[in-house]
Amino acid sequence: MIAFFLFILYDGELTPNDILELERNRMQYPTLAEIHDSMHDIALNHPLIARVDSIGLSYEARQILYLEISDNPGIDEGEPGLFFVGLHHGAEWTSVVVPLFFADSLASAYGQDPSITWIVDNCRIWIMPCFNVDGYHYSHDLGNTSWRKNRRPYGGSIGTDPNRNYYGGCSGSAYDTWGGQPHQNTSHLPSSAFFCGQAAFSEYENRALLSFLNGQRINTGISYHCYGESVSRPWSWSFDPAPDSILLTMLCDTIASMITCQSGSGHYSSFQQSTWYPICGSWGDFMYGYSRYVRGIPCLPFTIELGTSAAPDTLYLPQICRENFKAVPYLAQSIDSVVNVTPRIVIAPDIGYSQSGNDYTVYWIPQNNAGPCLWRLREMANIDVTADTFGTTNDRWVMSGFSPSSQQAHSGLYSISANYLDGTIAHATTQYPYLVEQGDTATFWTYYDLELNGDVAFFEISTDGLVWDQIFRFTGHQSFWHTRAYPLNDYVGKSVYFRFRLSTDGSGRYEGIHFDDFYPTVTYYLISDLPHGTDTFTTFTNVPTGTYFYSVQGQNNQGLGIRSRLIRIDVPAAIAENNASGLKQNYFPTITRQFNHEGMADIKLYNILGQEIKNVDKTGIYFVRQGQTLTKIIIVK
Ligand SMILES: [Zn+2]
Repeated sequence: MIAFFLFILYDGELTPNDILELERNRMQYPTLAEIHDSMHDIALNHPLIARVDSIGLSYEARQILYLEISDNPGIDEGEPGLFFVGLHHGAEWTSVVVPLFFADSLASAYGQDPSITWIVDNCRIWIMPCFNVDGYHYSHDLGNTSWRKNRRPYGGSIGTDPNRNYYGGCSGSAYDTWGGQPHQNTSHLPSSAFFCGQAAFSEYENRALLSFLNGQRINTGISYHCYGESVSRPWSWSFDPAPDSILLTMLCDTIASMITCQSGSGHYSSFQQSTWYPICGSWGDFMYGYSRYVRGIPCLPFTIELGTSAAPDTLYLPQICRENFKAVPYLAQSIDSVVNVTPRIVIAPDIGYSQSGNDYTVYWIPQNNAGPCLWRLREMANIDVTADTFGTTNDRWVMSGFSPSSQQAHSGLYSISANYLDGTIAHATTQYPYLVEQGDTATFWTYYDLELNGDVAFFEISTDGLVWDQIFRFTGHQSFWHTRAYPLNDYVGKSVYFRFRLSTDGSGRYEGIHFDDFYPTVTYYLISDLPHGTDTFTTFTNVPTGTYFYSVQGQNNQGLGIRSRLIRIDVPAAIAENNASGLKQNYFPTITRQFNHEGMADIKLYNILGQEIKNVDKTGIYFVRQGQTLTKIIIVK
């Protein structure tokens, strides 16, 4: 479909006509200083409802300013939050003017127009007209008109595409993470217009926005780009619908239907972002997924491609601004009720414990209100930490696209290696969380021959399986075994997952990448999901000497929630053991626990998977439940 393909070029490489237009109309658009002056003026002229502030500095040390417009700016009154941001891309100048127009309109119509007054009184609105300040300054003020990215150097080139530098969808999929390269609209080549950066949130501007957003409750928002006369919604990383796609589609369709095109007939189109072109690390995926899975807050974000060119003659701007402003009262008036019906998953609770000798209580504190919830406490023990030399089966890892390889090995016969395909993601992720101790260092060996800056592998660490920190980046040729070490100081006391991930572009392959001798990998020879209930604590009594690990996960009508971090409980020696069971046991003591859950009257026998069984037919770990007492036993046959 040729028309579809040409459409793709618009929010990326500008056409010669676009560049001519940018040059022709440049002096009609405000300088960055003028934009900032206008923002200060709005705040000065409307001090009761408008406040200007900075989220921090860009790479070139420019302030990234926003206006907050609300009846009590700076105060969280529990009102729904709306966020409007312009100019991720340097040359998309219209995207500055539109949010600036919103701020001016809201501030000046307050007290005059009843519907605007209502919005300002009942919502908290943040407006950031120019996010990529260095890119705008370079493109507009300095006249390098077609410039898209920010201005931080990396790898011999300048600039990262800020709309590829976010975490990604944070849904737990390895495919939604920053740096995936579906369909060539995301790149690891530093000179590319779509360069996604060295790592997620490697950029000053994105990091400043992250810390700002972490302090706010934002329920909807729009990021403005040029051009294409369209409104789009998450996901951008996947063609699958987002979990809240019905609500997202309803809002997206309605906004699009309100905005009349520049031609005067027809209205903006509406679609899921990936159907236009799939990308990883976008603002929309981040706002939606990070809010949903990490913060437990509903946030329904949209991306609007304004107008029919990047910098039309400013004669056209009043129409574009007025039409687009229609989204503001619509979102403001509907978002509260939409938020109320948006389902929430149970995000990771905060877990803790109190202990007295061999008795202890594990408790947890829900971190979001996700409705009625069952809690599933998992106990793990008999920990084994080792360097994994890899073999034919690697049960300490969950692999997709990685497999054992005898082609290269640093020790033993095997390493693990990515099945090196074009345009894909391969990953190997540790199966179990590891609780990091003081002095721990992650070490491994690697051997690789990859297409330079086309196919890129990462060693990554995550505390929740959702947000991944890129620790090492591998690309190009290192066709000999060499080692890497990363001190885990930043993760002490946290439980972490480790991941190797290979992101490949659409063509060009060499031998691939191998990893071997990874430390630390962990397994727990005893894992039991204890009976779940609605209480937010479980008490254990007369627990034998040993080390036990606990994590908890909620479950509601959205399914399983996000698992908590791991806590470790050490039970001291010299504890009388309960040998109530008549069954034979050897190396593992019997544990008797009192549960505060009810409804267990009969004696029942369970295997380690929690499945009820009738007979014990082989050596293993079993549970006997009698009344409210669950007894763990080892049976040797
Ligand atoms: Zn753009």
